[in-house]
Amino acid sequence: MTLDIPTGTDAVLTSDTHLIQSFANLHALKQDGARTAIVEASGAMVKDSEGNELIDGIGGLWCVNVGHGRPEIIDAITQQLKTLDYYSTFYNFTHPAAAALAEKVASLAPGQLNHVYFGNSGSVANDTAVRILHHYNNLRGKPQKKKILSRMGAYHGSTHMAMALTTPAYSDGWGAVEGLVTHLRAPHKYREAPELSDEEFLKLLEQDMLDTIHRIGADNICAFFAEPIQGAGGVITAPPGYHKRMREITAQHDIAYVADEVVTAWGRLGHMFASKDAFDYTPDIITTAKGLTSGYQPLSATIISSEIHEVISRPEAMFLHGMTYSGHPAAAAAGLANIAILENEGIPARVQTTGKLFENTLRGLGDMAMVGEVRGSHFMMGIEFVKDKATREEFAPDANIGGAVAQAAQQRGLIARALGNILILSPTLIMDEAMITDIGAILRDSIGEVSDSLGL
Ligand code: PMP
Repeated sequence: MTLDIPTGTDAVLTSDTHLIQSFANLHALKQDGARTAIVEASGAMVKDSEGNELIDGIGGLWCVNVGHGRPEIIDAITQQLKTLDYYSTFYNFTHPAAAALAEKVASLAPGQLNHVYFGNSGSVANDTAVRILHHYNNLRGKPQKKKILSRMGAYHGSTHMAMALTTPAYSDGWGAVEGLVTHLRAPHKYREAPELSDEEFLKLLEQDMLDTIHRIGADNICAFFAEPIQGAGGVITAPPGYHKRMREITAQHDIAYVADEVVTAWGRLGHMFASKDAFDYTPDIITTAKGLTSGYQPLSATIISSEIHEVISRPEAMFLHGMTYSGHPAAAAAGLANIAILENEGIPARVQTTGKLFENTLRGLGDMAMVGEVRGSHFMMGIEFVKDKATREEFAPDANIGGAVAQAAQQRGLIARALGNILILSPTLIMDEAMITDIGAILRDSIGEVSDSLGL
């Protein structure tokens, strides 16, 4: 059957009035020209319904790591659907694709992270981690050990629990699960304590963690959630040695360290997993999604240590957690094919060079008047725009300078993501030198255009 889905701009945007978009001002989307219909994608590029070819500077949504339209993944999904379209992993059932992917993921994950629960989004992976840790502590006879530490600037997802872990700005006006989560200071020196050295700032963050543990009581805290680099909070990199030190502190207090690698895994920072290989710490749980299938199928993984797995596998324990699509055969096949591409083409190792070039190209924009801070690593970068570079004076939160720059960039053929006065770039990992140079030039022109229009 060929589906007859219209791809013309008018048709798509008419149908689209029935679609509720994500993280959008739904009122503003009703204005003419406020929405872009993407109709095709190939490699590092996408095409909109007007026929414009655009560089996908955000890799779908930090997820299309191996590039768009890879026949290997599409064929693997199709083949799997022809063989076994669906079966669950409930009760005593399993199937070859989910089992093979779990084994593969466990073989790549650091340390003793040997057991995998599949979900279909990063949000669900984080909710699953919370549920597993609560269950684990009940089984260990520590039913009061349920509270969670997160950080300002964090993004962990949009389900009710994951949103409670996320920085409160994201649930503004909505409310979030109350009483379970405490947010530590954001590890963002540029905004929190620019006058301090990295070492001094790290000490301050350590003290914040220790004070918070002592105030709440280690016996009441089950987990610390942290992204290796905060993504949707504005691409915030912690001072050197931060994760290692936090990992030591949490271990001393019997608090599980959950590394949210939804964005940072699968090559984006030059490694399959960033926690161990980029930042030198091994968490108790890794949650991941996005680049696990490069977005070809919705799939996430909550990867837990053997120690936690042993407790939740005790004879008296029932694992009362399950999602219909956990380990979906088509998603598992996509994951296996995607990881094969990452390995066969040596993409993470290649990113150590190309990603560094991308990072340095963007850092080169730091000489521009409106650019306050360029931050991030490899193919995960953010640019913060400021009114006054010397004083770091911010634009008004609703000035949306990132939006203005993103619009100027899109007119020049590059999709970037605005986050208030920050611009985020997280392209596919298959960028070559020429494309990276193009992105740098487009950004320089776009930022220049906006700063000229503001008279800066
Ligand atoms: N954690 C992080 C670090 C993320 O960036 C995201 C999504 N951007 C999530 C969790 C949630 O993932 P999902 O949107 O697939 O639920």
